[in-house]
Amino acid sequence: MIKHLTAALMAAAASQAFAQPAPAPLPAPIVVPSALASLRDDALNNDHYAWDIVEGLTTEIGPRLDGTEAEARARTWAVSRLTALGFKNVRIETFPLQVWTRGAESAEILAPFPQKLAVTALGNSASTGPQGVSGEIVAFDSVDALRAAPDSAVRGKIVFVDHHMAPTQDGSSYGPGGTPRRLGPTVASQKGALAIVVRSAGTDHHRNPHAGVQTFGNGATPIPAGALSIPDAEQLARILKRGQPVRLHLTLVSETHQGQSGNVIAELPGRDPKLAPVLVGGHLDSWDLGTGAIDDASGVAIATAAAKRIMDSGQPLRTIRIVWFGSEETGLWGGQDYRKRYGQQPHWALLESDFGADRIWRVTSKLGEQRRDEARMIGAALAPLGIVTGAFDKADGSDIEPLLDDGQPGVGLSQDGTRYFDYHHTPDDTLDKVDPVQLRQNVAAWTATLAVLAGPIERAPAARSRRR
Ligand code: ZN
Ligand code: ZN
Repeated sequence: MIKHLTAALMAAAASQAFAQPAPAPLPAPIVVPSALASLRDDALNNDHYAWDIVEGLTTEIGPRLDGTEAEARARTWAVSRLTALGFKNVRIETFPLQVWTRGAESAEILAPFPQKLAVTALGNSASTGPQGVSGEIVAFDSVDALRAAPDSAVRGKIVFVDHHMAPTQDGSSYGPGGTPRRLGPTVASQKGALAIVVRSAGTDHHRNPHAGVQTFGNGATPIPAGALSIPDAEQLARILKRGQPVRLHLTLVSETHQGQSGNVIAELPGRDPKLAPVLVGGHLDSWDLGTGAIDDASGVAIATAAAKRIMDSGQPLRTIRIVWFGSEETGLWGGQDYRKRYGQQPHWALLESDFGADRIWRVTSKLGEQRRDEARMIGAALAPLGIVTGAFDKADGSDIEPLLDDGQPGVGLSQDGTRYFDYHHTPDDTLDKVDPVQLRQNVAAWTATLAVLAGPIERAPAARSRRR
């Protein structure tokens, strides 16, 4: 009986095996060349170019707000550094800019519990003048709640939007988390508000407000608009919960003038100048509260260090074009100017680093179906760095977004953003937040990616003889 059962079970198992579909054929094997692996590992263990740039730019220039004299000094600094590193065709391409700068700023609860709150003006905020404005607070937990409120509930008051943002590895909470900052001022103005303060778009609990841009849209009249630090937003929320009317005095002084910004461009010429270049970049400008170490001195440093490491190893087939974009923070102006000048030219790939300097955990690409093996080679080269291969139809980057939207190809190297919004746009965005070990992992990933995209690299005679 048992024998019969066993035989029957075996027969059933066999027929099931036959019923399974044949496994899909594996794609062609991808073998990472040893020269590529050693280029990557050398960057991981030894790179100093990126640190030298982050340290130099944040120390010798410091904050670099869009269109200011400091941003102009940063362009000059960039030209001399890129030239000294041996890049060619180093140049500044300027464009006009409406410049916004901040002056004195403070917030103070007048009643029921008088005390100061930590505040900073959002980009393009109207100025209160030095005397400031006073008004009653009307609070909402989202921009939608503000939109749904009758105008009469808002008119003549100071709006407070209290919306929480949680840390995420991929930074996805910044979309909804940044909505009060981006849209709140426009909606509040349209409803006749006197001014607006939002809970900062951040994930820390330091008493630092987070700056950031907002743009009055749909013909909305500019009103004073500020961000409270997260502990201060929580304090205000607790005071409001007590149920008494809360009066706030808000001083946000700012001014605007017509000025100039610019992109800094440099190249590592490829062996075939007729081929479409690979563009790598970050943005040179920063908010004015910190020294812009993670946003985005790190980005220009990582992109430039990777290109320099390729240069040190020989000459790639394709030109690598480095762009240190200007005035990203107040409206992606550098990216738009680049598109105006070069948007008609094909690029082999676009890459931008603008999410700090913590380790890269994922690579995505949008190179097209016929370049799948190139994308797989990048994934294989990055895997030993602990980087997973993500989607084959995704690339991003603030300043390269206009060209990506036009359908040009790109690669996205995603940094771990878990602590990025603790410091983003605050006085705490300083050099000590950059971890040199993770910075080198970034450079290693970028170097390997660039070597695949711009390669093959022909060793320079000097590099060859050094190797012997
Ligand atoms: Zn940035
Ligand atoms: Zn930024």
